[in-house]
Amino acid sequence: MTGDDEAALREVAAEARGCERCELFQIGTQTVFGEGPARAAMMLVGEQPGDREDLIGRPFVGPAGQLLDRALAEAGIDRTQVYLTNAVKHFKHVPRGKRRLHQKPDRTEILACHLWLERELAIVKPRLVVALGVTAAQALTGRPFVLARERGRALVLPGGERAVATTHPSAILRVPDPDARDAAYGALVEDLRRANEML
Ligand code: URA
Repeated sequence: MTGDDEAALREVAAEARGCERCELFQIGTQTVFGEGPARAAMMLVGEQPGDREDLIGRPFVGPAGQLLDRALAEAGIDRTQVYLTNAVKHFKHVPRGKRRLHQKPDRTEILACHLWLERELAIVKPRLVVALGVTAAQALTGRPFVLARERGRALVLPGGERAVATTHPSAILRVPDPDARDAAYGALVEDLRRANEML
């Protein structure tokens, strides 16, 4: 039924393109829906598209995406075989001169967008969901989440899916000290490697 699932994903993505469930559709350039095979064993969920993702219309194609690609490859995971998406599908930002500064989505926006994530989960039925960062972990579990405490732990989502949480690649890019940044990157690779073993 893979062909049907691919078609179902395309249909949901088309529906999400016109989403006005919260006011972020007025801010972002376009809906950035998830991408990847409908039969992917692993689904990775980030927070929301960034500047580049918003312009290109694909998840994880900017600097955080490039870091994630490298970490996935080092962990022995083929990006083309995983389903990549975000908790929120519009880029929330404020203009600052020529730049567009990322703003964290709030609870209302995360809840409004949850429908799309639920539909992606229902179609892909991943064997494991990897939450990248706190926003994704909170959106997926539906409860407050302390990453430092629950990182790497086996979780069960309200829909019964198995999940695990790790750090967001953007958080690694923001670490100022190069040694600390390398260590944070190594820990992400290790979490992804373990996630791959949990499949
Ligand atoms: N950060 C995210 O959480 N998702 C993206 O798609 C890009 C950056």
